[in-house]
Amino acid sequence: MENNVEQLFQETGMVGGPGIQINAVVGRACGAAGAVNREGTYCDHHCTSEGNYVCPVARDYVELTSLAPARYLACGIKNAAQALRQSRDIFLQYSFDDYAVDSCIPQEHAGVFKQLLWASGKKVDVNLFGGEAGWHPGVCEVVSELKKEQGGFTVILTTTGSPLIKNKKLGERILSSQLDLIALSADGLSAERIHELCAMDLEGIRREWSTIPSCSQEKKAYEAIHAAKVAKGRVSVMFNVVVHPGNIGEIMKILDALDQHFPLAKKNPYFAQSSFYHGDAVFAKEHEALLEKFSDSMINEQLKQVGQSKKFVPRLHYWLLQKAAFETFSGQELRLALSGYGLWKCYAAGRANAYLQIGKSGKASDSGVFGGHLGCFWNDETVTLDDKQVWSMSNEEIHEYLSNQHVLAQAAAKPCPGCSMPRLIGNAVSMELGMNPALKTKYLQLRKKHVGF
Ligand code: SF4
Repeated sequence: MENNVEQLFQETGMVGGPGIQINAVVGRACGAAGAVNREGTYCDHHCTSEGNYVCPVARDYVELTSLAPARYLACGIKNAAQALRQSRDIFLQYSFDDYAVDSCIPQEHAGVFKQLLWASGKKVDVNLFGGEAGWHPGVCEVVSELKKEQGGFTVILTTTGSPLIKNKKLGERILSSQLDLIALSADGLSAERIHELCAMDLEGIRREWSTIPSCSQEKKAYEAIHAAKVAKGRVSVMFNVVVHPGNIGEIMKILDALDQHFPLAKKNPYFAQSSFYHGDAVFAKEHEALLEKFSDSMINEQLKQVGQSKKFVPRLHYWLLQKAAFETFSGQELRLALSGYGLWKCYAAGRANAYLQIGKSGKASDSGVFGGHLGCFWNDETVTLDDKQVWSMSNEEIHEYLSNQHVLAQAAAKPCPGCSMPRLIGNAVSMELGMNPALKTKYLQLRKKHVGF
């Protein structure tokens, strides 16, 4: 029995180690009037109303020359990783037992869980993110600097794929770096389009891509398939698939099409959210049944792939949380929860956030080096440290930040209403600690049904 539980914990993402997401392309924002005293994110796409969602960085125009040098980024990531490990150790030593009682984990499983969490904490997942992190002039230097720490980091590059299609030499350098994974975006693709693009050779894709006039989500779709084909056999690939009103109707077909052409790539579907910018509910009443059916399928898939190769990114707890929302709320309250409102909060408890985000500040900046602020990519008005940069912070300062996000949120004029994000959403502990208490009863019932306790 114990081995089964251990395997289940490990293979469903429940004991995932700490993670860091760094916006590697923060620089001086430029507007029509030129450079302004504000931080922005570099991207060569500006996806707005043409697609199914407005990208948060669509209106930033940033010069590549203003980005923080690679050595600052690598130093900031190492500082953050050390503090995350320390913070996790302190939690396991002093708070885990209380958490386990509060979360109704039987003693025999709590012991296994704790051991696995200890063991999983050494390696930190680092997501080089943006905007388009692949255009950072020192991106490969950051990767090699992190990989020097043997076994210390799993390094992921989240990219639209544009550097690989626009600049073969750079693409080659990226693929030859020691990257562990390339994360691509497949939420602008229909199943039919995936089949059509996959039937083309690389030159064919590039030719059609070059005729698409604007930087758009359609252009990104070409880039993603091109990058996945180029990376095949060299670097592992993951497809992020935002589930939105435009693709919920055929989401399983889309995932199947990706699986057919890229069987080794992991698929990472998750629901679109609007809470962090205080937006309207993403989904309408007619989407509810489709979304719930999809959540059910994902729970089944997560359990089915235990002991097998992984078709989907392991995160059973994420799908149990979504299912708990269906069983707890209804009507507009449910639709808002599915959009992230009050589902989970990074600042709900001292150790809710096992996933640390580093990026831009929303305040004016007079620093010569941009970015490096501990905070949130999606909402920089709640837990962002505007006056400090991670590469200059001590272990203690970062640890204090991790423990006191709720204090920062209390001082925020308009705190973030919640989300189901930080890398969807850390491990089971960080998810349960930040979960809306209203969901607890249903969540625990679902956990008992599917996990066994
Ligand atoms: S709850 Fe926290 S992590 Fe989630 S969007 Fe808001 S500020 Fe960001």
